[in-house]
Amino acid sequence: MGIFDVLFSAFGPQNWWPAESELEVIVGAILTQNTNWSNVEKAIAALKNSGLLSLPALFEADNKTICTAIRPAGYYNQKTKKLKAFADHIIHNWSGDLDAFLSRPLPELRRELLSLYGIGPETADSIILYAAEKPIFVVDRYTYRLMTRHGLYSGHYDYERLQSLFMNALKPDVPLFQEYHALVVKLGKSFCRKEAICQDCPVGQRDI
Ligand code: SF4
Repeated sequence: MGIFDVLFSAFGPQNWWPAESELEVIVGAILTQNTNWSNVEKAIAALKNSGLLSLPALFEADNKTICTAIRPAGYYNQKTKKLKAFADHIIHNWSGDLDAFLSRPLPELRRELLSLYGIGPETADSIILYAAEKPIFVVDRYTYRLMTRHGLYSGHYDYERLQSLFMNALKPDVPLFQEYHALVVKLGKSFCRKEAICQDCPVGQRDI
C-alpha cells in the first residue's frame, strides 16, 4: 500500500478502463497486446464507425473487414482471429449473453478465458478486473520493472509469482486493484522506463 499511496498522491485517479461497455474493455484488452494505447483508440474508433463493435457484428463480419478496421493496432491478422474467436465463443456457448459469461465465479471465468485463442494471463485478468469487475491483480512488464528495481522481486518475469505478491499483500478490492495497475502503467511510462528517470520520480523521492 506504500507504493500505491505514493503513486496515487503523485498521479491521482487514472479513470481506467477507458471504455463505454464491457465489450469495449474486452476488445481493448485484446487489441492492446504489443502496441500502445493510442493505436488501440484508433482501432476501436474504426470498429465503432464501421458498426463492428458488437458480438454479432464481430461474429458475422469477414476477417478482411475486421483487419481493415483494426489495422492501426498492429498484428491485425492475429488480433482479428482473437476477436472472432471470442465472439464465436460467446455466441455459441453463451447464446451471446456477455453478462452471463462475465458473472460467473472468478476462478471459473479465468479458466475459460485462458482456454480461448489469444488470451493469456494479462489479457484474461484485465478482462476480469475491468470488464467483470472481480478482484484479480493485473501485472505486466511495468510492474516487473518497478518491483525488481526496488528489490521486492528477483528472478525472471513470472506472471503468476509476481501477481501473487500483490494478491497476498492486499485485500481483494476491485477499485484498489483497478487504480493500482493503472498507476503502475503511468509510472512505467513516465519515469520507470527502460532508462529510469529516478531523480524526478515520486517513488524515488519517498521511502516505500
Ligand atoms: S524510476 Fe527509479 S525511483 Fe522511480 S520507480 Fe523506477 S526505479 Fe524506482
